[in-house]
Amino acid sequence: MDDLREQIELLEGSANLSATIGDVQSAIDLLTAARAKIANDPQTAPLTLAKLQTPLKGMVEQANKDLKPIYSGLNKYGKALDKKFKDKPLPAAENDALSSHPQLINRAIAMHLLREGQFDVASTFIEEANRRPPHPEPTASTPNPYLQEAWEKELADGTFNSHKLQEQFSEMYHILHALRNEHNLAPAIQWARARSDVLEARGSNLEFELCRLQFVCLFISQDEDYMSDSADGPLRAWAYARSEFVPFQTRYAREVQQLMGALAFWPNLADSPYRVKFLNEDAWEEVASSFTREFCSLLGLSADSPLYIAATAGAIALPTLLKLQNIMKEKRTEWTTQNELPVEIPLPPSYHFHSIFVCPVSKEQSTDQNPPMMMPCGHVIAQESLDKLSKGARFKCPYCPTESHAREAKKVFL
Ligand SMILES: [Zn+2]
Repeated sequence: MDDLREQIELLEGSANLSATIGDVQSAIDLLTAARAKIANDPQTAPLTLAKLQTPLKGMVEQANKDLKPIYSGLNKYGKALDKKFKDKPLPAAENDALSSHPQLINRAIAMHLLREGQFDVASTFIEEANRRPPHPEPTASTPNPYLQEAWEKELADGTFNSHKLQEQFSEMYHILHALRNEHNLAPAIQWARARSDVLEARGSNLEFELCRLQFVCLFISQDEDYMSDSADGPLRAWAYARSEFVPFQTRYAREVQQLMGALAFWPNLADSPYRVKFLNEDAWEEVASSFTREFCSLLGLSADSPLYIAATAGAIALPTLLKLQNIMKEKRTEWTTQNELPVEIPLPPSYHFHSIFVCPVSKEQSTDQNPPMMMPCGHVIAQESLDKLSKGARFKCPYCPTESHAREAKKVFL
């Protein structure tokens, strides 16, 4: 892997297109200037053209020269890739579920670009995709892809009117830029405050997190004109808390108390129990990702791009799938389950989206009809097990001595 990394560093460093793009741009500038000159005074045309030749030739030569390290970099990278993945062919597309849904793939790509803030690339992509609509290919599971379901059409069409989404995401990037690059919380606080009802209904802590960071910033800020042991910062933070923390006092009473408690430690904050809260280097990144998550969820989107998640999960799964393919070839067996992988692929916890509950009594997975139920003691079993154990009367929990009635159990939502 080190070889590959080295080659990627080379491509990112010296072997990139920036020099060539510069060369080409100066050639374009030269030509544009010459065209303007000739348009102004057609009589100068022969002289202007003659004057162009030598510098232009030099520029083209320079551009070609600057391209050389790129070719050699790409060449070396290709060789390193071949060496690394010598005996590892990509899995065959026998189970290709994607080529029958090109609109959905285009939509996912467009959405990914939009939410990454690549608005120019996204609009070029959408324009080109609209100009040449993709042709679905039949696959085993979708033999006639032209008869698409209405929902798929709607989804596909929905993306390509992307102006609204683009506006929304540019607002998001504007606020994120202020947070990350300028350490300015005002636009984010304003955004959160305007939506505090919906955010609160979601159980979001965003507004408080933002205001808490504002408090911290004021607290540790120092005036250059003053001696470094001035209490101005803490006093400003105190004034800020008095004017802004009123709405947080019930829900975040404990946190607000802790922030106020820190005032007593202002001369030696670094040695106080509050140092974690006040001297946290990741604080800006944390509020930025909280903000992104809340912003996307109000748009009905997940915080991470689904395309990114799918591609990463796919990359994690690839080695296992390749191994499986080899085993199937050796044993001459086939993958018979259409919608399920025949092997378990361990993914990191952040990639687990659907928590499942297996009843410890019946050992069955819960369903909508047979949901997990929590008894007053806190133990959880499936509805059917609960019915069987209780038979409508008081019963003893199978895991602790507590007795309860089935009607006291609460449904658990995962
Ligand atoms: Zn119990």
